[in-house]
Amino acid sequence: MKSLAELFEHTLQDVYFAENAITKALPKVAKAAKSPELKKAAELHLSETKEQIKKLDQVFKSMGKKPAGMKCDAIEGLIKEADGLMSEAEGIALDAGLLAACQAVEHYEIARYGSLREWAKGLGHEEAHTLLSEILDQEKATNNKLTNLAVTSINKASPVKKAA
Ligand code: FE
Ligand code: FE
Ligand code: FE
Repeated sequence: MKSLAELFEHTLQDVYFAENAITKALPKVAKAAKSPELKKAAELHLSETKEQIKKLDQVFKSMGKKPAGMKCDAIEGLIKEADGLMSEAEGIALDAGLLAACQAVEHYEIARYGSLREWAKGLGHEEAHTLLSEILDQEKATNNKLTNLAVTSINKASPVKKAA
């Protein structure tokens, strides 16, 4: 891999794999979460993620390529962490930890789509640039929603310990 075009296609396949892995992980988060709001957020983002995969299909198509995924080690690691949390944490720690794990995934996606959409622009793939920017905005909105949920509700469920 030497060219930006090759890097772009490689990274597009990486996020395609990641989004597909996320569609399998989010139902587990929705099931494990105790907070109804966190459950709802996971369910909503699952449906958004399915739409994102359709947009990625369109990105591949706009470049005359077939949609394909390539193993993304980062998402597998992030999902593995979340799985570990589900088996180890309980109560408030479970919800706060799951929410944080979801945010780690959103941050990964924001990093990837930020690079991808700029590369698309640089390579003259206008349609891809637009579609990838739409996905980026959705990931950012999801991350902001999760931050709000954490600070207004989930983290507050922790009892404030008085100094001894
Ligand atoms: Fe996504
Ligand atoms: Fe990756
Ligand atoms: Fe996302």
